[in-house]
Amino acid sequence: MQTLSVTLGPIDSIRLGLAGCWDRLPDWLMEALTTQIAADEAELIDRLYETDQVGYLNAIVSSSPRIAALSVTSQGRLSAYAGMIELLTACLLSSAHELDFVAAQLDIPIVFLKGIHTSAAYYSQPSIRYIRDIDVLVPHGDAPRLYQAALRMGFVQGDYDWLAKRITTDSQPVQVEKGIKYELPRLVKIVTCECDPVLLSTVSLAENSTIQVRDNVAYVPIGLEIHYALTPEFPIPADSFRPDDTLFAHGQYLTPDCCLIYLAFKAYVDIVVHHSLRGIKLFADALRLIKKDGHKIHWNEIVVRSHEAGVCAPLRYVLFHAENLYRINIGDTSVQCPCVDAGSSPLDFGDFLPRISGKLQPFRLGNVS
Ligand SMILES: [Zn+2]
Repeated sequence: MQTLSVTLGPIDSIRLGLAGCWDRLPDWLMEALTTQIAADEAELIDRLYETDQVGYLNAIVSSSPRIAALSVTSQGRLSAYAGMIELLTACLLSSAHELDFVAAQLDIPIVFLKGIHTSAAYYSQPSIRYIRDIDVLVPHGDAPRLYQAALRMGFVQGDYDWLAKRITTDSQPVQVEKGIKYELPRLVKIVTCECDPVLLSTVSLAENSTIQVRDNVAYVPIGLEIHYALTPEFPIPADSFRPDDTLFAHGQYLTPDCCLIYLAFKAYVDIVVHHSLRGIKLFADALRLIKKDGHKIHWNEIVVRSHEAGVCAPLRYVLFHAENLYRINIGDTSVQCPCVDAGSSPLDFGDFLPRISGKLQPFRLGNVS
């Protein structure tokens, strides 16, 4: 039996701790924060920026009197990042609304995935959850049509190079390759935004920002990924619905069950398979989804459903930690999948790993005992 045993330094403990949605911060997180703030608070901010977590840190330090005050410099840096995330989110949402309108005109069903959905549904402020792009799911037959419409909206194929502060264009063929790929080539455009001068001057102080501010105008890169499946090979269910408090006139979200399976899968692939803590924000989304929408989840079928899609290990991993590390109540999951009957623990890679490890090279297990 394989179980994960990873020794964490203070910053990685903080990274894991910030992902939680605590009513009261646990002592181990308080301790790690206190130690790191005393040792090197600038490093703390730098490292959390790498994993898109500065927004969580800003929210926690500005609301918890139990944490030692940061220096004025660090507080300024955190406010600049929080302003940047807020402005980026507003611009991404505005472009998502435009895309929603265009999809409705073309009669293309569209589902908003990841940050665009979870930021609005599960976070108290838009400055907490860093969203990097708009991710949408459309039927595979409609994906090229929406892609062409996005080009007419001013998107170009390519990526934003934030070091060079410009778009690097690309010219890959725009074709649906089911079973090999799950999205069309990435799109990007830069939108300009003339907003509140106080917010703009705060945002202009963010270091290594994705947003450029010049002459009271913000230049904001908007990434767009058009997915025609959730993964190339795993049949993750993609039931969707329109919630009552939706942001969109036409677009939908994944149902809580499907969204949880999907977020768990994405977080697990990043964190466990690739050893990249970038996936921590999807893990945080999954925890918040359980906490807020747990009563809507069909706990008696969700594990079996994820088993049938070949991704029960990621879901069991997230549920295990939600309950044991983050102390979030999950529902009754006594209806389990065959992997559990076979004696596999929640931290086992289960049948998921052999299927994915053949596809991803190089691959390493890291600290497994
Ligand atoms: Zn299973």
